[in-house]
This record gives sequence, structure tokens and C-alpha cells, in this order.
Amino acid sequence: MHASPFVTVVALLLFGARAEQTEQGEAALTDDTAQCAPYSIAVVANALSSFPTIGQPVLSIPANDTAALAKFKAITGIPNIQPKGTNGVLSNDTINNYPATDPDCWWTASGCLIPKVSGLTPDTASVPEPRTLGYGFDDGPFCSHNEFYNYLSSKNQKATMFYIGTNVMWFPLQAQRAAADGHEICVHTWSHRAMTALTNEAAFAELYYTIQAIKLVTGVTPQCWRPPMGDVDDRIRYIASKLNLQTILWKYDSFDWKVASNQATPTDVQGHYDSLITAVGAGTFDTVGAIMLTHELTNYTMQTAVDNYPKLAAAFDHIVPIAVAQNKTQPYVETNVTFPSFAAYTASRSSTGSNSTGAGSGSGSGSAKGPSPSSGSSQGISAGISLRLSYAGSSLIAALTLLGAALAL
Ligand SMILES: [Zn+2]
Repeated sequence: MHASPFVTVVALLLFGARAEQTEQGEAALTDDTAQCAPYSIAVVANALSSFPTIGQPVLSIPANDTAALAKFKAITGIPNIQPKGTNGVLSNDTINNYPATDPDCWWTASGCLIPKVSGLTPDTASVPEPRTLGYGFDDGPFCSHNEFYNYLSSKNQKATMFYIGTNVMWFPLQAQRAAADGHEICVHTWSHRAMTALTNEAAFAELYYTIQAIKLVTGVTPQCWRPPMGDVDDRIRYIASKLNLQTILWKYDSFDWKVASNQATPTDVQGHYDSLITAVGAGTFDTVGAIMLTHELTNYTMQTAVDNYPKLAAAFDHIVPIAVAQNKTQPYVETNVTFPSFAAYTASRSSTGSNSTGAGSGSGSGSAKGPSPSSGSSQGISAGISLRLSYAGSSLIAALTLLGAALAL
């Protein structure tokens, strides 16, 4: 007597024996539940003892990780700036009493991009190539991202993916897909907390273990990172710089992340996309290109990116990963992985015509009555902070919810 297909599937899930435990197998899945079913691959399972607890903030370096401890202790000269909260949660007292002079170049308060501590590189919030969009997505790898990544592949479009370490460990095959598809991978911390509200050691660990997770799973060592909620000051920039991580922010925000918590409607978000598109036509990016904050956070944010891609492609001359816009042909520590120069990337696309396909099919685009694109620098301290605080941890919650749903099968 044969077991029913249902029993077989449940048994496979329970014992972690899914047949499709390869990058290609996972990438071929189309059903959300199947994509998000928990799994384990040997390279991660065998390394778990070298990593902090998945899904939790790393408040200190594990005592048995002598390599990490030595690397942290070798960092000297960290600016003497006090943490702005506890355990990755900003303190209201700090927010309310932070000086208007912005002594720490605290982006959350002021939108500051140019460090006040000497020797630190200014943050990246735009790309140097005119009429170009530095295309990136935060908070992945999201387990059900195949439809989105399939779409990007169909357009021969690469992007910069800012990955959360915990999500990489949960869904390593999805992270491997990003590398296989030719996307750029940057660090978005281990647990998506407010970095300025962590101790020096915790901030180091949040970055360090995400680098290690990405290296373990994809084979590359990133040299770029984006602070969750943009929360960075000179102390955190300094620690990141000692891990060879360039800080990348944004100047425009789609606010797609606010929809999941009902703080914004899809109409609001479309207004932000439309405003960016209108700004291209108005000449805003004729000398310096744009970076807009968008997410791999939920199926909604990914679908919204897909819906807007033809309009963005029609408006901008070029849509490229941030490394390509910066002409960084060796974005990783590993020199055997190279990216095309901006000229080579755009030439290859124009020769295949892929930047024009699908463009111009817009339905009444350009009418843009939505709000203006929001720049952090124009916001007051309290407004900026309250705006961003509610986002803390939401990506992990989304992933945990899905994981919980899958486990409940
Ligand atoms: Zn994020």
C-alpha cells in the first residue's frame, strides 16, 4: 500500500528531506508555500556552531569565536559616541535631547551623509551617472521571491540586494540565486535593529556575522552595507569602515515598507514612484543619478517593483546595480568575481534592446499628483525618527510569520 502524496510531503517537510535542495531546484518553485517551506542545506547546518542564534540580535561576540573577538579587539579609535538606545532600540530620551548641531552625523535625525569624524568616507545616497537609477532592494532574501527574480531575469536586469544575515541563513538557496542571477549582494545586518542603539561590540557583530553568512552561502565577501532604517552615525560608520563596508543610503523613499503595517496605502506608494519618475522628466537627475529605497520585504513590495519597472525603464536612461553605477568592477573581496563597468553594462543592454522592451506601455504615467519624493534631510528630527522607528524588525517579523505558517502545515 502506498503512502498518500500528502503524507509523503509532510514527511519530507518534517525530516528536512526536500528533493529540491539545490539553488536551481529552489529557483524553479512557483508556489509561495513551497518556496517558504523550511529547509536546511549542509553548508549552513555544518556551520551553525560558528554563528550566533538565527533570528536574534547579536548583543555580544560568542566567547568561542576567537577570530571574531580578535578582529573586534584590533579595532582601535572608535569615536567616543554613546549608544543611542539599548539592544537595538532607540531611546526616546536620546531622540528628544539630541543637539540640533548634529555632532554625530546621525542620519536618523538630520539626513547627514558627510561624516564629521575625519577619515570616514561620505555615505552613498545617489549614483554618479546621470539619468541613472541605482537599483536596489532591502531585507531579502525573502523566501517567495522567485516570481520577482524571474521577472528581473526576463528583463536581463541586475540589482543590488541588501541581505539580512538571518534571512540568508534561513533561506540560503534564495541567497545563492541572487549570486547566480548576477545581482550584487550587500550587507543589511544580522537582525535588522537600530545600529546606533547597539554597543560597539554588538554593532560589529551584526555586520561581521552577516558578512560571514553571505560568504558561507554565496562565496563572496561584500564591501557595502545599508543600515536598517538608515540608522547610522559616525561611531557606526567607523566600525563598518573597519570591516571594509561602504555605507549606502538613499535620497528617495518609496515607503513600500509602510504598507504592511497600514501606515501607508498602495496609492501612497505609487505616488512616490510616480514622483520619482516625474522628477526624471523634470531634469532632476541630469547631473547625478538616483537611489530610491525599495524592498524585497513582502509579495506586495516585490509586485509593486515589477509593476513600476516598465515606467522606470522608460523614464531613466539606465537602471543598474549600485556597484555598476559606481564603476566598481570588483565589488567583492574575491577578485575572481567581476562586474561589468557602467559602459559595458549599458552597452550590452542597448545591443540586446532589453532596456527598451516593455517600456512605454504605461497606463497614464506621468500625471503624478502624489507627494514629493521625501529626502531625510528635509525632515525635522522628531518627524524623521517617528517615521522610521515603526519599521524596526518588520522584515524579520515577516519572515518569521511565513516560517511559522510553513511549520504549521
Ligand atoms: Zn531594511
